[in-house]
Amino acid sequence: MSLPTVRIDEDRLWQSLMTMAEIGATPGGGVCRIALTDVDREARDLFSTWCRDAGLDLRIDRMGNIIGRRTGRDPDAPAVVTGSHLDTQPLGGRFDGVYGVLAGLEVMRALNDAGIETQAPLEVIDWTDEEGVRFAAGVVASGVYAGRFDLEYGLNLPDRAGETTFARELARIGYDGEAPCGGYPVDAFFEAHIEQGPILEQEGVPIGAVMGAQGQRCYAVTVTGEEGHAGTLPMALRRDAMVGASRMIDGLYRLAFDVTPPPVITTGYVSVRPNSRNTVPGQVVFSIDIRHPDNAVLADVCARAEALCRAAAAELGVDVAIEESSRRDSIAFDADCVDVVRTAADGLGLACRDIYSGAGHDACNLARTVPTGMIFVPCKGGISHNEREDALPADLAAGCQVLLEAMVARAGLA
Ligand SMILES: [Zn+2]
Repeated sequence: MSLPTVRIDEDRLWQSLMTMAEIGATPGGGVCRIALTDVDREARDLFSTWCRDAGLDLRIDRMGNIIGRRTGRDPDAPAVVTGSHLDTQPLGGRFDGVYGVLAGLEVMRALNDAGIETQAPLEVIDWTDEEGVRFAAGVVASGVYAGRFDLEYGLNLPDRAGETTFARELARIGYDGEAPCGGYPVDAFFEAHIEQGPILEQEGVPIGAVMGAQGQRCYAVTVTGEEGHAGTLPMALRRDAMVGASRMIDGLYRLAFDVTPPPVITTGYVSVRPNSRNTVPGQVVFSIDIRHPDNAVLADVCARAEALCRAAAAELGVDVAIEESSRRDSIAFDADCVDVVRTAADGLGLACRDIYSGAGHDACNLARTVPTGMIFVPCKGGISHNEREDALPADLAAGCQVLLEAMVARAGLA
């Protein structure tokens, strides 16, 4: 590409990550920085200072998103935007979210050092409350920005304890900004993030060009048989809800291996009634979580899952009720943005593979209205939402360099 050599600074990026990780550091080596707490405010203050030091124009929008803007030769051109989140899970790690924010900042710093002016403005954003730990839902602030939710809905969200609201907590920590949340022209959005899964590390590939996020459907399954005495009820006369549920769960597991490319299917919740050692179980309720990147395949897998549960119930003489508890369609990222990421990795001689996100991200909201791409980098053992979350400085730097190339490719050189 025609971009002069602009190298991001691996050490500066790593040092910034480690400095930020001290805010809310846990004894186990992780980070607890829950949205709109005092610790979140501390992290926001530090990020804001770093943005000002980098000469960025800083603004806070109505949802408390912090936006650092580096103007371009054409200040009215639609901005090329990057960002992620500084908030974490209660026992979170040092990289989930914060990497994407500080990689964006490092892009700005590196362009400053090289004296590069872009045609379009660049922005780096800390999205408020991605994790959804305290309030009713996550990724709401990026959702308001992208027009998925009303501003009033976002501001009035109650916390889980029912003691306060999103708006009140924003005001309390001094981040109830005045800038409009979204509603201005954006050319593209890129989010750099650790993969939070094992694929890149296992394959030794440093860059994932994220194609989109998989769809998800969840079910609550109730299997009803009849309770009976474990010693006296002959096997042939039993209607054992536990055996019914077991056969269904095993069938679901096998189904996942019977589809290409495979879905992921999980039963993580089971409740048994009466849950007594010497009573034949009368009722079992269990969860099914099915995810796949292709909505049509997902629908087909879900239909097969339902059918196999009904077949197992009929075979064992138990009843089954299957209720869909939630549904989220898959999201395809913008083909050009995905290609910009691939091209950037190629140009840097970095191996790159297409990958789907198993998790939700702010980028999934942005993708509804803005051409969007994501850059994944490996994390150790695929571990995330965990204090042991870890990543290599060189991998983080590679992802940041790809982010820089992708943003400049989109924004153009002045
Ligand atoms: Zn994240």
